[in-house]
Amino acid sequence: MISVNDNFLKLPGSYLFTEIAHRVAAYKEGNPQAQVIKMGIGDVTLPLPAACIMEMQKAICEMAHKESFHGYGPEQGYEFLRQAISDDYKQNGVSLAVDEIFVSDGSKSDCGNIGDIFSNSCKVALTDPVYPVYVDTNAMAGRAGDLLPNGQWSNLVYMPVTAANDFVPELPKEPVDLIYLCFPNNPTGTTLTKSQLKVFVDYAHKTGALILFDAAYEAFITEKDVPHSIFEIPEARDCAIEFRSFSKNAGFTGTRCGFTVIPHDVKAKGAKGEVVELNKLWLRRQCTKFNGTPYIIQRGAVAVYTPEGKAQVRQLVDYYLGNAKVIRESLLKAGFAVYGGVNGPYIWAKTPDNQTSWEFFDYLLKEKNIVTTPGVGFGPSGEGYIRFSSLGSRENTIEAMRRF
Ligand code: PLP
Repeated sequence: MISVNDNFLKLPGSYLFTEIAHRVAAYKEGNPQAQVIKMGIGDVTLPLPAACIMEMQKAICEMAHKESFHGYGPEQGYEFLRQAISDDYKQNGVSLAVDEIFVSDGSKSDCGNIGDIFSNSCKVALTDPVYPVYVDTNAMAGRAGDLLPNGQWSNLVYMPVTAANDFVPELPKEPVDLIYLCFPNNPTGTTLTKSQLKVFVDYAHKTGALILFDAAYEAFITEKDVPHSIFEIPEARDCAIEFRSFSKNAGFTGTRCGFTVIPHDVKAKGAKGEVVELNKLWLRRQCTKFNGTPYIIQRGAVAVYTPEGKAQVRQLVDYYLGNAKVIRESLLKAGFAVYGGVNGPYIWAKTPDNQTSWEFFDYLLKEKNIVTTPGVGFGPSGEGYIRFSSLGSRENTIEAMRRF
């Protein structure tokens, strides 16, 4: 019998959303009449922007003719999309060469796969609570060590984000190589100002660490001093990689498209001390393991940058932000301590009476028929919090909040 990658055996058995689905199914079975409203998983509910649909329809027609058929495309994405992305960054004062942009089938893949190009000896720091993909993929690679009874991994460096520090992580207390930051944040819905993010960029500069910046929710930023990209801080060009997604702005969760930015200035060293561009390593990795995002999808994605596409995306995001406002205000009125929901689609609320996340999850499911996500599912520092998603319909959001 062959041997498996033992790191997989260290992962906890039940995935968070599987456990939630299991509890919801069990409740529904006993209470078939209950009108359960889902505010848990972070999937969008509105259809794709018309501009994207039209471009994809045109692209499908192109595929029907020999002259305009597209087979394998460039692994790193078509020039038309990378150029549009580069132009869009320029509007925020960020200059990126087209070959610093890598189109993919979504940022979950990129956040998870990026570990391929780093040594397994890299020390990883991440916020707690956190998007679980960063933790689990590092565990799979063997960088996380062992899962401890307190829910932390022995080799990871945790930077708690809680009400106690106003959801602004402190710098790691020990030397680290890779720092995962996600702002606007999933799950807390909070974010960092430019000067707060610059503290991390300066730290990375000083120590030689690399920041892996996940900006999947940048379209939800409403406040002026919140950066849309880490590259709005010029010094980040040689110490950061950025992940972006079309999922939460244009509703591509089922359509699948995202991209990763790796400036040529980001460098690291090999075992013999040779200095290498991470851009080149990622290109090599993608060309070997990825065969490109479908042409039809990239055509849909590029429509996001047209005037109509931009207006339609704005409408989608404003709709969800409207839901977020309803949730925030209703929970505040009901006496909850509430965070997020202003620059992101998630509302992070403190559970009442020191209930655990799962106790309050069960209470909301059984007494209010509302499905949320227990904060502890995102890491030990999420204990005592619950996450509401604003990505559902306005009607369901209003009805759910009425129940408070
Ligand atoms: N990054 C964060 C922080 C997310 O919350 C999500 C999805 O929920 C993703 C990345 C994944 O995005 P995509 O749909 O592009 O894979």
